[in-house]
Amino acid sequence: MALKFHLTHENKYFNGKQTGIEESKFILFGVPFDSTSTYRAGSREAPQYIRDASINIETYSFRTSMDALELKIHDAGDMPQIPSVDITINMIMEVVNEIRGLGKTPIMIGGEHTITYGALKALKDPSIIIFDAHMDLRDEYPQGVRWSHATISRRIAEEFGVDNIAILGVRATCREEMEYAKNEGINFKTSMELMKGDISYIENLKRNLSNRELWISIDLDVLDPSIAPAVGNPEPEGITLTKLLDIMQCLVDKNIVGFDLVEVSPKYDNGITSIVAAKTILETACMINKIKS
Ligand code: MN
Ligand code: MN
Repeated sequence: MALKFHLTHENKYFNGKQTGIEESKFILFGVPFDSTSTYRAGSREAPQYIRDASINIETYSFRTSMDALELKIHDAGDMPQIPSVDITINMIMEVVNEIRGLGKTPIMIGGEHTITYGALKALKDPSIIIFDAHMDLRDEYPQGVRWSHATISRRIAEEFGVDNIAILGVRATCREEMEYAKNEGINFKTSMELMKGDISYIENLKRNLSNRELWISIDLDVLDPSIAPAVGNPEPEGITLTKLLDIMQCLVDKNIVGFDLVEVSPKYDNGITSIVAAKTILETACMINKIKS
C-alpha cells in the first residue's frame, strides 16, 4: 500500500523505524517549504535534520510510561519542494485528507509556519492551538504579501473563526497585531504568564474549544532561544520544554486529530534544537497514543 501522493524518501525513517501504512497509527511527513521566511531561512532542511536527531536519542518516555519505539509511525517522506504557497497548501490539504481517510493521525514537520493552514483545510470545523513567540496576526508581511509565516494566524482566524484559535507563549508582537487581537477577542497567553502561572487555565481553554477537532501547531520559537536556538525568528523570554510538554499533556485529549512542528532552521543549530524538536514530536505522539489506545 502506498499513499496517492508521491513523497520522496531517503530511506531514513523518523525514530529509526518504519511501520507499514496499514498497521500504522500515525503517518508522518515533512514539508520542505520556507519561501516566505524573512530572517533566518532554511527550515526547508528541517524535516531530514529532525529525522536524524530522532534516530540518535533515547526513546523511553517517563511522561507516558512507554517506549516511543513502540509507536506505530509510518514515515511517508517529504513533499516535493515547490516555492509556491498556494500549491504547497493544496498539496498538504490533499495529503492530510488522505491520511485522515485512512484513519491515521497526521504528524507534519515543517518548513515554515505558513504550512499549518494546509493541514487545517483538510479538517472539518477545527479548533487550533498554536504555540508561538509571535502572534502571526499581521494582515500583510512584508507589505503586500497576505500569505506568509507572519500572517498565518490571521488567515487561520479569518477562515476558522476567531473563537476557535488560541495562541500560547506570545512575547513578540507589534501594535497592528495587538489591536487586531483586542478587537477580535483573540485568545492568547504570553510566555511570561505561562511560566508564572499554573496550568489550570488550560482546562478552561479546552472547555471553550470543546468537541471540535483539535489541531496543535508548535512553532518551535515558542521555546526560549537558550533551549531551541535554531529557529527562523528567535525571541528571548521563551518557555521551557518542560512547560511546553506539561501544557501539551493537559491539552491532548480525544479531540486531537494531529499536530505540526515548524520553523526549525538547521544551519543556526549547535545540535540542541534538532534534538529538542525530535523529543517534542516523540513525547506528543506518545501522549496521543495513550489517549487513542
Ligand atoms: Mn509562527
Ligand atoms: Mn514564531
